[in-house]
Amino acid sequence: MQFLEFAQICERLEGTPGRLDMIEQVGAVLPRLGDDELLVFVRFIMGRVFPDWSPQKLGVGPNLLYDAVAYVVGTKRDAVREAINATGDAGLAVERLLANKEQTSFFIQEMDLLDVYQDFERMAAAEGQRSQREKLRVAQKLFGNARPLEGRYLARLMLEELRIGMGEGNVRDAVARAFDIDVRLVEHAHQAMNDLGEVALLARQNPAALSSVTIEPFRPVKMMLAQAGTIAGQIEDHGEVAVEYKYDGSRFQFHKKDGVCRIYSRKLEEVTGSLPDIVRQLEEATADHDVILDGEAVAVRDGRPMPFQYVIRRFRRKHQVDSMMEKIELVPRVFDILYLDGETLMDRPLAERRRLLEDVLKVHIAPQFRAGDVVGAEAIYTEALNRGHEGVMVKVLDSPYTPGVRGRLWVKVKPGVETLDLAVVGAEWGEGRRAKMFGSFLLAVQDQGRLLTVGKVATGITDEVLADLYALLKDNVIARSGKEVTLEPQVVFEVGYSEIQTSPNYESGYALRFPRFVQVREDKSVDEAETLDALVERYRLQKNGQGSGTLPD
Ligand code: AMP
Repeated sequence: MQFLEFAQICERLEGTPGRLDMIEQVGAVLPRLGDDELLVFVRFIMGRVFPDWSPQKLGVGPNLLYDAVAYVVGTKRDAVREAINATGDAGLAVERLLANKEQTSFFIQEMDLLDVYQDFERMAAAEGQRSQREKLRVAQKLFGNARPLEGRYLARLMLEELRIGMGEGNVRDAVARAFDIDVRLVEHAHQAMNDLGEVALLARQNPAALSSVTIEPFRPVKMMLAQAGTIAGQIEDHGEVAVEYKYDGSRFQFHKKDGVCRIYSRKLEEVTGSLPDIVRQLEEATADHDVILDGEAVAVRDGRPMPFQYVIRRFRRKHQVDSMMEKIELVPRVFDILYLDGETLMDRPLAERRRLLEDVLKVHIAPQFRAGDVVGAEAIYTEALNRGHEGVMVKVLDSPYTPGVRGRLWVKVKPGVETLDLAVVGAEWGEGRRAKMFGSFLLAVQDQGRLLTVGKVATGITDEVLADLYALLKDNVIARSGKEVTLEPQVVFEVGYSEIQTSPNYESGYALRFPRFVQVREDKSVDEAETLDALVERYRLQKNGQGSGTLPD
């Protein structure tokens, strides 16, 4: 497939309002692609270049994009930046700039989908001091050969945000449709393989194998997630449940095979080098088993848990890990097992996984309690808070492990203010002594690959934190208009609020009352931001007077 055709498909999808229509269009394209193309097309159409589990990262920021486009159209970086500011969309701005150039250039080399992918691989492989120069060189070549419409989608792919509304759910449905396979089977295989491209290939080549895909060491699967809920609700729905402490640490997935150990963060980045102490403890504790374990790394001082910030500092640490280790001691709390000695366990019920976990691991296990009545479970909750934990997780005993799913099989129960994890999509310059920083931030929930605004947050942020936030976000600016900037969505804020209201002022149709900044969720990527569906569910619960994360007094 020519890249131009891919761009035309994207353009058509962008103009298609209905979800089902979009799925049908993509479903019609997939069967006619070659094997390699199928793999790449499926990733590209979701705005991804590499699978989520892959250590390959493109590593292109807005500045590199400005430079590459400026070179190709023969202008200055600032002119490109301004063009992007004026349209508020990097893709459209690049398209227009290339359209002006087109009249003067004579020679364009056709690119097909695989050429572009190989160039992206080259960019990802660039390492060390010269890496930026090498990435720039490849980006210049790509834009040099791009027609305006191709430029629109090249730019967006480089920023890994295609803005055409083909999120994972839609692409999964399109794969099911294209190869006439039950969508649950596609979803199941996707959870294990963590790459819809490969799932699509298998769906075509050997659909029977989709039901028996296994998970493999060193290919991390997404973490299973929890919804906010109540103890009473969970017991009412499921009877006896498993109750565990909710640790205020950072999630990890530990893989071990043939004595080789690697550990991954919640975003599935490999952090083995930053966490040698956790790795050593788990390596020893698992004897000669091959395993994939799911757990939380917590910082401890004098037997009491330390706040999350201490843990995340260690996850980020790449240099002088030893000296940092002396200051912040991390211990693992393992609560699940996904793989044991060649066998995938994700479809086994939690109760059985727990038995296997207890067989394999005698230490570092997170305690698990069983409770069949609300009074008993609340006693564990109170105990959890007394011990300094965040709350409890209430898990359904016969539930499978569902990677990437934020369902009600795991429910988190915490006291205090409600919080939401939201993507930061814009900001506004501050005033007075805050004039050189951003003073407020525009937040969004996600919905099928789109980010929809839900409010702004300005309170709860000290000057010191504002300065840190500015440093964190300043390179993500993709457009400016007056006092407002648009940010490439890369950062997630945890935001407290008193109430969710319906509102015509934001794209989601909802707004937060009294939003308050709590912290940057450095462990979360934007695709883990709260979904519109979950927001609507919270709104519904709140209207029914049930709150969502708090226990009744
Ligand atoms: P949240 O980050 O607020 O969505 O809460 C879910 C997170 O709590 C998980 O992703 C884990 O990092 C963390 N967590 C702490 N203790 C547990 C536990 N016992 N079981 C599962 N997740 C836990």
